[in-house]
Amino acid sequence: MSRIVYVNGEYVPEEEAKVSVFDRGFLFADGVYEVTSVLGGKLIDFAGHAKRLSRSLAELEMDNPLSEDAWLEVHRELVARNGIDEGLVYLQVTRGAADRDFAYPKDASPTVVLFTQAKPGLADSPAAKVGIKVISIPDIRWGRRDIKTVQLLYPSMGKMAAKKAGADDAWMIEDGAVTEGTSNNAYIVKGRKIITRHLSNDILHGITRAAVLRFAREAQMEVEERAFTIDEAKVADEAFITSASTFVMPVVEIDGTALGDGTPGPVAARLREIYLEESRAVAV
Ligand code: PMP
Repeated sequence: MSRIVYVNGEYVPEEEAKVSVFDRGFLFADGVYEVTSVLGGKLIDFAGHAKRLSRSLAELEMDNPLSEDAWLEVHRELVARNGIDEGLVYLQVTRGAADRDFAYPKDASPTVVLFTQAKPGLADSPAAKVGIKVISIPDIRWGRRDIKTVQLLYPSMGKMAAKKAGADDAWMIEDGAVTEGTSNNAYIVKGRKIITRHLSNDILHGITRAAVLRFAREAQMEVEERAFTIDEAKVADEAFITSASTFVMPVVEIDGTALGDGTPGPVAARLREIYLEESRAVAV
């Protein structure tokens, strides 16, 4: 079934949507994106995604083409037009089209594209019941991972390496420590303490991460924000990842080593429940 997508102010069937071959997103990966989940037809953590979008744009000296209210309106309109109950809204802003040159063009106007992906069963995911397996790979990405750019080739390569190894995803390692997953933040649990890497330019500041850590602290769980090694992770009691599209997802195996009894741990399971319940309650 054809979707209605949003391109530069217009709602059009996906077959009719057009972006220039000179678009700098296409030529230079000169663009940023956000992914917001939809549960019960409502947007989860929308304000957080809108705020991070503004920050990513500002870091790249791009103007934000829409106000937060206007972004919300476009998201809601796409959810409604495409009848999304559970799924995702993908948003991308690039610097726009200009004759190819490394320097930023002076007068390009941003290209704005949004589309939906229906994901029935997103919240009641079978993977969350059995957990996922991860492998470790070196983190060879650039030094501004806090900006959510569309340069996603290495994460794609990482997911393919995981697939070839019979796993589901990859955690990236720098100087012996885990930075994050290919498209998610990484956590271990040791003696009921939740450990996840501190914020810096080395990782994306996950919107789900911020919410999950807040809920964990509110539930009196102990949280430590620091780097952890892959060796420490392999002997942890539990591990999990967070992202807008997976919420809280248990990790049951790292580089072929099962964690605990190889089934999702109680902390990850509880955090998933809390996150889904609390986020649905304030969804817009
Ligand atoms: N780290 C990376 C590298 C990611 O790509 C993502 C998701 N896009 C995340 C973390 C999780 O961020 P969020 O919770 O905002 O989806």
